[in-house]
Amino acid sequence: MIHLRTAREIDAIAEGGAIIGRLFEYLTDHVQPGVTTQQLDERVEAFIGEHQGAVPAFKGLYGFPGAACISVNEEIVHGIPKDSMVLSEGDIVTVDVGVRLNGWCSDSAFTFAVGEVDADTQRLLDATRGALHAAVEASVVGNHVGDLGAAVMASVEGQGIGIVRDLVGHGIGREVHEEPQVPNVGRPGQGPALRAGMVLAIEPMLSLGTDRIRTRSDRWTVVTTDGSRAAHFEHTVAITADGPQILTGAVREVPNAV
Ligand code: MG
Ligand code: MG
Repeated sequence: MIHLRTAREIDAIAEGGAIIGRLFEYLTDHVQPGVTTQQLDERVEAFIGEHQGAVPAFKGLYGFPGAACISVNEEIVHGIPKDSMVLSEGDIVTVDVGVRLNGWCSDSAFTFAVGEVDADTQRLLDATRGALHAAVEASVVGNHVGDLGAAVMASVEGQGIGIVRDLVGHGIGREVHEEPQVPNVGRPGQGPALRAGMVLAIEPMLSLGTDRIRTRSDRWTVVTTDGSRAAHFEHTVAITADGPQILTGAVREVPNAV
């Protein structure tokens, strides 16, 4: 079932979400060549732990070992933080984080540039962030879930960018993953109607090549089948009578990322 949250409940989700927004601003200074994804994960866990009662929602979720999913270059999602993954100049790294606070969950992802990236990679980052904003703008009462996917498709049309179809956004609230699924492809007017009080994790995942994916033998890391780079931006968003409300902070305020 699709839950509708009260204004007070949405505020409670936003309280945890704001931690992620601040976390991404904090991480901007620490995403550097030579840093390992394990070190980033330790910073994520420590930062969240500084907020009383807040815990990383992904740690242990379905058995995931890290505090955050940290995915580099052709890795799309669910990268396991590790000492052997060292960031290099020109890489991109996605940090996908959930916070659970006072029984409410929030979820956000941000793809950081490691130093200077090439023009195609910058184009991918811009397109993915643009796709997220297009989908958020479509998150209004009267639209349907299909309008979000349609907005993602329209925002990248003609750019030679792949839209990962086999991974989707989701409702979020008491649990990280709730109904409905929020695909990144869709048709206007299709899928569940958007109603005030719905809270959705909207998360386009785009690639510079194929939209096909596979899971590595570690049984977690999802990569593009052609090795092309992928980016992933996500916000937890409340549908309200006054329009979409982003609950996980303003990516715009992160200076160097895209
Ligand atoms: Mg996420
Ligand atoms: Mg999510």
